[in-house]
Amino acid sequence: MKRPLLGLIFGFILTLQAFAQEEYYFPGEKFDPAIPSPSQFLGYPIGDWHTRYDLIVKYFEKLDQLSETAQLQTIGYTHEHRPKVILTIASAKNMGNLEQIRQKQLQLADPSQPKPAIADMPSIIHLGYGVHGNEPSSAEAAMLTAYWLMASQSDLAKNLRENSVVHIDPTLNPDGRDRHSLWANSNKGFPPVADPLDREHNEAWPNGRTNHYWFDLNRDWLPLAHPESKVKVEWYHQWYPNVTTDFHEMGTNSTYFFEPTKPYGSENPVVPRKNYDDINPRFAKYFAKYMDEIGSLYWTKEVFDNSYPGYGSTYPDIHGGLGLVFETASSRGHVQSSQRGDITFAFTIRNHVVNSLATMEAALDNREYMHEYLREFFQTAVAEGAKDPAKNYIFGDEFDESRNRLFVQFLLDHQIKVYENTADLTASGQSFKKGKSWVVPTNQPQYRMVRTMFEYVKEFADSVFYDASAWTMAAAYGMPFSAAPTVKTGSQISEVKAPVFSFPEGKAYAYLIDWSDYYAPKMLFDLQKAGIHVESVHRPFSSQTQDGKVDFPAGTLMIPMGFQKLKAEEVSAKIKELAAKNAQKVYAVQTGLNLSGIDLGSNLVSAVQQPKVIMMVGLGINATEAGEIWNLLDQHFGMPITKVNMEQFGRVNLHQYNTLILPSGNYNSLSEGQVNHLKDWVNRGGTIISMKSASLWLNQKGITKEEAVKLEKEEQEPAALPFSVRNDFEGAKEVGGSIYLAEMDLTHPIAYGYHRKNLPVYRNTDIFIKPSADKYLTPIKYTSNPHLGGYISKTNLEKLKQSAGVVISPAGQGRVVHFFDSPNFRGTWYGTNKLFLNAIFHGDNMD
Ligand SMILES: [Zn+2]
Repeated sequence: MKRPLLGLIFGFILTLQAFAQEEYYFPGEKFDPAIPSPSQFLGYPIGDWHTRYDLIVKYFEKLDQLSETAQLQTIGYTHEHRPKVILTIASAKNMGNLEQIRQKQLQLADPSQPKPAIADMPSIIHLGYGVHGNEPSSAEAAMLTAYWLMASQSDLAKNLRENSVVHIDPTLNPDGRDRHSLWANSNKGFPPVADPLDREHNEAWPNGRTNHYWFDLNRDWLPLAHPESKVKVEWYHQWYPNVTTDFHEMGTNSTYFFEPTKPYGSENPVVPRKNYDDINPRFAKYFAKYMDEIGSLYWTKEVFDNSYPGYGSTYPDIHGGLGLVFETASSRGHVQSSQRGDITFAFTIRNHVVNSLATMEAALDNREYMHEYLREFFQTAVAEGAKDPAKNYIFGDEFDESRNRLFVQFLLDHQIKVYENTADLTASGQSFKKGKSWVVPTNQPQYRMVRTMFEYVKEFADSVFYDASAWTMAAAYGMPFSAAPTVKTGSQISEVKAPVFSFPEGKAYAYLIDWSDYYAPKMLFDLQKAGIHVESVHRPFSSQTQDGKVDFPAGTLMIPMGFQKLKAEEVSAKIKELAAKNAQKVYAVQTGLNLSGIDLGSNLVSAVQQPKVIMMVGLGINATEAGEIWNLLDQHFGMPITKVNMEQFGRVNLHQYNTLILPSGNYNSLSEGQVNHLKDWVNRGGTIISMKSASLWLNQKGITKEEAVKLEKEEQEPAALPFSVRNDFEGAKEVGGSIYLAEMDLTHPIAYGYHRKNLPVYRNTDIFIKPSADKYLTPIKYTSNPHLGGYISKTNLEKLKQSAGVVISPAGQGRVVHFFDSPNFRGTWYGTNKLFLNAIFHGDNMD
């Protein structure tokens, strides 16, 4: 009999404790004792530790189990297999009608359907936290907010449960969060150390901001390069929330930021003005009120950018909702000293808690207004789309089925309507083939996303960019595309299946595989891994195949059956299996004597060496760029790559590798002996692939001798300017990230697989290099009129014209392939990935 009594007392004490623990966040508030507070559940006051992601999920599971007002769902998994969860909170009545509520919201967002009565429609609120793993206050705030919403006895909480559906995503980037949390917890001192120089406040490379592949997921709502964002955007389109939040942290000496953002300069060109001029100020009043109450300082209308569509706070603005970014001063660690005294973790958490509550209150007070806006947003989208002179965009690359398929799927993932093109046609001087091109009408609810995919923007209200100023996705995918006002559309499509090619059965003298398809390099690597000897034909030719005479471009793969270690039947069976797996067309020939061009045994045909790739990473290296390369080779091409920390480079025997990748970075910590090892290896035939600033370092070390562009007449700057404009003036000189037209030498191995001389490329560096003194070694140059989209200053544009995009520097028996653009940018520049893969597979044929 004693046990239950003890339990009762113990439970009572816990409840009291919980009350005291959450008192800092919710002073004087009464809670339902049946719901455990986060502190009670975790056994420590919120703010004392960085809560592990699995415990956050466990707490949400508990809330789900305890009450019918909470429901937890797993929408997918991260790269490191952490579940991506969303906790939905609403009254039991609304929870019982959740599917009807969702259907009504979708109906409201679809102007082709009758408008539902909005008077009884709950507000759909989506609270998103923690897209940057090392901005950890937000996930703690997510637990407190969920607790408050479920357990608070206040009128506001009751009203919210009755009249809204709140979806809480506690951590958009669970992998990064745990990387950071482990760091902060394992370096915590007792007593805590507030000194900013302490290890606790200075994470090791590559820090927890990014995901597994070191990508910034707060750029990925548009590219959808990662599962975290793919499942998120898929979920988003099932709900069309009226309000979406995105909680962040900034410098320790700062205060708090909420929207509105900087007018005009930081706004997205396709978002209706009403969002910026009316809705944002409405909501801001609530944030101010809550922050004033706790005496916390804040600012608005400066710095933070809202233009790039891949931000978690901008994507909702392009979908009829309101996206909100919040930034709190960071304690980065558990407590850190600042100009205003010590900033505690709990202080930063409280800032986000009160703004979570303020967001919900504002959404509730503006419930019908936001529903009207959602309707109006998509109605005006259709109306504006109907008036757009482009009427339709046509796109498609007749030489690359896989890249077409990836782009169509990408448009479908963003809920853009895509139709078949039913006839061969020419538009803007480009040819579009029936069956290999598609049509996107502007007259559709996703019109504003259609513009995001196909329009180049060149005029800007501002010249300082926090991030990319161009995002034309059709260009990123390397799609030939054009406005096509009069094109007839075929059936609407919901998927593009990979083609199934029949394999040429029977004996073969050799097999041929065109290099034009996006996944041809994967096919090649798979063949090499299977022990099959593969060669590359370096000139165009035509052969008699099972399909009759076929023309093959330079770079075509050739598998000679007389030079294989495995038995002929085994080789054929393996090629057949890998061709099906990679959706590649394989041709068989019965003779080496070609119908035209060089023959298959020519000296202009050579073995392709299997890449053994090592990449320098670690302190000083641009983690984003290195991550893009790692992700590309891992996720798309199944190629292992050794990532070596710079401090371990002394232990590397480079002779075990044939390709060394140097991402942008600072290489000054390498010793003279290490530099000599590198020189020796490249002189003996190695290939270095070097990105931007790494190329400047190679020049400095005398490994290469490329020259920077200097203008005859540099633009004269004013002798004196007011101090207050310094940031704006200097910022305008940077190349934040924009799109340019490059010109390729299609006969050079860097261009194998390409069929058009002109190629849009992405560039975000202000390093401008002259074409090589050797006239054959600048295979990619910017055109004389290269500016396609995004911001660039006049002086920089002059420097860029006809400067080098890719330069090859011979070094002894080896060479350096320099990239001055970003062929793998954000995991989304499918159109330029092949340049990079050509450097990996064909580097030894480039000089
Ligand atoms: Zn952030």
